[in-house]
Order: sequence, then structure tokens, then C-alpha cells
Amino acid sequence: MASAASSAFTAFTSSTDYCSRRAKRAIQIGTLQVRTVRNHTTFLKTTINAHAPTTTSSCPSSSVIKSAMATESSAKIIDGKSVAKEIREEIAAEILRMKESIGIVPGLAVVLVGDRKDSATYVRNKKKSCEAVGINSYEVRLPEDSSEQEVLKYISDFNDDPSVHGILVQLPLPSHMNEQNVLNAVCIEKDVDGFHPLNIGRLAMRDREPLFVPCTPKGCIELLHRYGVDIKGKRAAVIGRSNIVGMPAALLLQREDATVSIIHSRTKNPEEITREADIVISAVGQPNMVRGSWIKHGSVVIDVGINPVEDAKNPRGYRLVGDVCYEEASKIASAITPVPGGVGPMTIAMLLSNTLISAKRVNNFK
Ligand code: NDP
Repeated sequence: MASAASSAFTAFTSSTDYCSRRAKRAIQIGTLQVRTVRNHTTFLKTTINAHAPTTTSSCPSSSVIKSAMATESSAKIIDGKSVAKEIREEIAAEILRMKESIGIVPGLAVVLVGDRKDSATYVRNKKKSCEAVGINSYEVRLPEDSSEQEVLKYISDFNDDPSVHGILVQLPLPSHMNEQNVLNAVCIEKDVDGFHPLNIGRLAMRDREPLFVPCTPKGCIELLHRYGVDIKGKRAAVIGRSNIVGMPAALLLQREDATVSIIHSRTKNPEEITREADIVISAVGQPNMVRGSWIKHGSVVIDVGINPVEDAKNPRGYRLVGDVCYEEASKIASAITPVPGGVGPMTIAMLLSNTLISAKRVNNFK
């Protein structure tokens, strides 16, 4: 990695950033306001009939569902912040065990091109997360007018560097670069974002295993697992079919033997399809689009959306809401993720997890 040595090495990034890109750049994932962290086991016992988070939006109730919503919020809150903390502690313990056993520490590298403030913020936040669990983080920062060849050279150096187990390219790249060329240059063994076509292809195929699963959808499934939600044989609706969230989330649910419907912008009857689902994962980017009337009684709702909406009362002038109208859905679902504090913290935790998986695999450490 000789050519990288002259650059400032500090931090890295992940797929969390894509959400923020969609969310009009206004969001700082690492500083999302969430509730107090609690022990996960205790939490599971205590969150039934829990309060709604303060940051969700008010959704005007449609007359259709007013009667169904006569009761207070009854859904269990799926607390991504708490679960993510628990996962980070598990990762830190594993990293320590590996270091003490074989002297190897996982390393994650980021390539950051240009001087966008939001990108710099994400990189900084993720660097902190790395440091907290004991992952070495490396960063190469290149000026906006760098050539694609220069970026590819740094990726090649990181591909060859045995101390780097994961590589992330901070998106968006400047418009003169071909994003696909750059992402495809990351070797599949270090593709901790899981976006390489080979990893996605393996995810889609029966009896094949991807080396890495994309972080946000992996975080959604992990939340379902940790909250004991049965997936096998259930009906699931995934709203959104993007390469980074919706599509891999649907593939993951299918791999777990759910029967999956995928809803997108051309779907004719999204409410009806969603209403049949026992599990709903929404990754659309439209604030409060999924109303209470879309939700089946007792279903589990995972809201990936992170959308800024104007809020004059908030010092920032905006607040974050999900795709799902929390106020309505939480009265009908049996469990639901809040926004913020649901899927968001899981994405970074899964990135750390993928980096650890990579380091273990290459060193054959069980
Ligand atoms: P994309 O814009 O890439 O994809 C949005 C998807 O939603 C598309 O498949 C689109 O359909 C579909 N869609 C758009 N409008 C509608 C509609 N009215 N009805 C049904 N489907 C619709 O977004 P991303 O997948 O990148 O992100 C989705 C959301 O998730 C965003 O709010 C983002 O901020 C958030 N996010 C959160 C993360 C986290 O860590 N919590 C990480 C990543 C994203 P079509 O394909 O037909 O265009």
C-alpha cells in the first residue's frame, strides 16, 4: 500500500451513507437521537406497550383506520440502538480473542473522494465505531478532481494489503467517475458492503453462500432474529427494490423460507399486498407512506426509511421520520422499529461484523 502511505489515514464508511444521500444530506447517522440503551434481555421484557419515540411524525389518521386505532400504541418497540450496542460488545470481545490468540486485528479501509461535508461526517462517525470495537481504520482522501485511475490504484493497493480486511468506497463519487467500475474493483473477499455482483448473485442463488451480506438488510434480519420473530413460512412484504436495501432484504427473507412480495413504484395495489404480510420491511424513502391501514394486525414492521421532514420546533428545522406512519402502525403491529433508533444503528454494527468475518475467514480463525 505504498502509494496510500502519503495520504492521511484515519477512517472509513458504509452503506448507511446511502440512506443519508437519499435523505437530502441532512442527516448525521452517528448522532441520531435515540432512547436510553437497556440490556437487551431486560428490554424484551419491558417494552411491550412501550412509549412511542419522540421523533416520529404525526400522521393524519384516515377514517378507515380510526376505529382500529382507538387503543393506545401496543406494539413492542424493536430497539435497534440497544441491539446494535450488544452486537458491538460481542464484536469487541471476538476481536480481543483473535488478537490474543493469533495477533491479528481486523482492518477496514475507506476511499473518500472530494470534500463533501456529509461524507466527511459519515467517515468520522464510522471511524469512531471502528475504534470502539478495536478495528483498525484506514482512510485515503483524494481531491474532487482525481481521476478514476487514481481511485482504482488505491483500491488495488488496499486489495493487496493483508492488514486490510474490508474496503469501502464512500459514495457518491464525483460525477466524472463510473461508480460501477470503482465498486467492482474491490475484491470480493474484502467487499464488506456486500454490493459486488458476485456477492449479490450468490445471495440470490440456492445452495450458494455470499461472502458478505449487505449491511442494512442484514441488520433488518438480525433484528428479527434477536427479537425471536419466526420468518419461516411467513408472508413478507418488502417495499422498495433498491440494490442496497429492498432487493437484498427480499432475497434474505426468501432464504429464510418466507414467501416474499416485492412492492415498488409501479405496484398497483401496495396496501392490499402489504396488509397480507406478517413481516413488512419498508425501504422507500417516502415519509409516512405506509399508513396504519396497510398493516395487518399483529404483524412485525421494520422501517428502514430515514426521511427528514420540516419541523419548526426542532433547532435544526427538521426531524427524521420513517417510511411508516409510526403513530398509526404501532397501534396495529405487534412489533415495530422506531426511526431513528431502529435499523440505522444496526447498519454500522453489521459493517463491523462483516469486517470481523472477513478477518476471521482470511486467517482461518474460528
Ligand atoms: P432508493 O431510492 O434506491 O429505492 C427506493 C425504492 O422505493 C425503489 O425501489 C422505488 O421503486 C421504491 N418506491 C419509491 N416510491 C415508491 C412508492 N410510492 N411506492 C412503492 N415503492 C416506491 O432508496 P434506498 O433503498 O437507498 O433507501 C430507501 C430508504 O431507506 C431511504 O429513506 C433511505 O434513507 C433509507 N436507508 C436507510 C438505511 C439505514 O441504515 N437505516 C440504509 C439505507 C437506506 P422503483 O424501483 O420502482 O423506483
